Amino acid sequence: MRIDVVTIFPEYLEPLNVSLVGKARARGQLDVRVHDLREWTHDKHNTVDDTPYGGGPGMVMKPEPWGEALDAVIESGAQGEELPVLVVPTPSGRPFTQELAVELSEKPWLVFTPARYEGIDRRVIEEYGDRLDVREVSIGDYVLAGGEAPVLVMVEAVARLLPGVLGNAESHRDDSFAPGAMADLLEGPVYTKPPEWRGRGIPDVLLSGHHGKIARWRRDEAFRRTVRNRPDLIERADPAAFDKKDREI
Ligand code: SAM
Repeated sequence: MRIDVVTIFPEYLEPLNVSLVGKARARGQLDVRVHDLREWTHDKHNTVDDTPYGGGPGMVMKPEPWGEALDAVIESGAQGEELPVLVVPTPSGRPFTQELAVELSEKPWLVFTPARYEGIDRRVIEEYGDRLDVREVSIGDYVLAGGEAPVLVMVEAVARLLPGVLGNAESHRDDSFAPGAMADLLEGPVYTKPPEWRGRGIPDVLLSGHHGKIARWRRDEAFRRTVRNRPDLIERADPAAFDKKDREI
């Protein structure tokens, strides 16, 4: 997968060199290219923002540098290659979910446009919306100073789903929000050695070797945790997904 990020703070994306994403890059599974938006400015101050039409506080990112930058990135794609999906981080976008992460992980090329100030001049989104699949995406109901942290969040969520990136391909199968058997439930608690720590043991069932009982215990714990932390997920779920034991909990 290829990922391009256009930003005024390229150094903010340096964590993409470490850990899982860094290793995926080193192995050639992920081709990440970070671009400095100011390279596409032509005045001596490398201006990327201006005052908003209609007045009001804050500044708006100018369309010209974004247009030149995105044209250059798109044109750098090989002839005949599928066009990129443009991912625009914004608190006013659709929520970033595991489902969207899965969908994006199946695309060959993503371009991210993290903004600053009050965001990017709307015409940029409209312009590329006519040519590309554009997704305006929010990572949560809060406002950050810029889109770089959301890009780090989204790239990591997408990259760990790429084939061969996680050591064990099954690791994300039981994740909270993973599509499949427990799609509507959060993941329950996990334990490792030693069997006793500070006087606290682990649930006996996990030592029983009985796969059926372990699976049932995991499901019950997942259900309890979801009821406690995210009752909205239970309310939204298909009632047919729950059985008699769930209802007792
Ligand atoms: N005035 C804008 C609003 O209320 O929608 C907020 C602009 S914010 C200060 C600057 C930039 O940070 C946004 O354009 C976006 O790129 C990024 N950003 C902030 N919060 C975000 C969130 N929750 N999800 C995705 N991007 C976010």
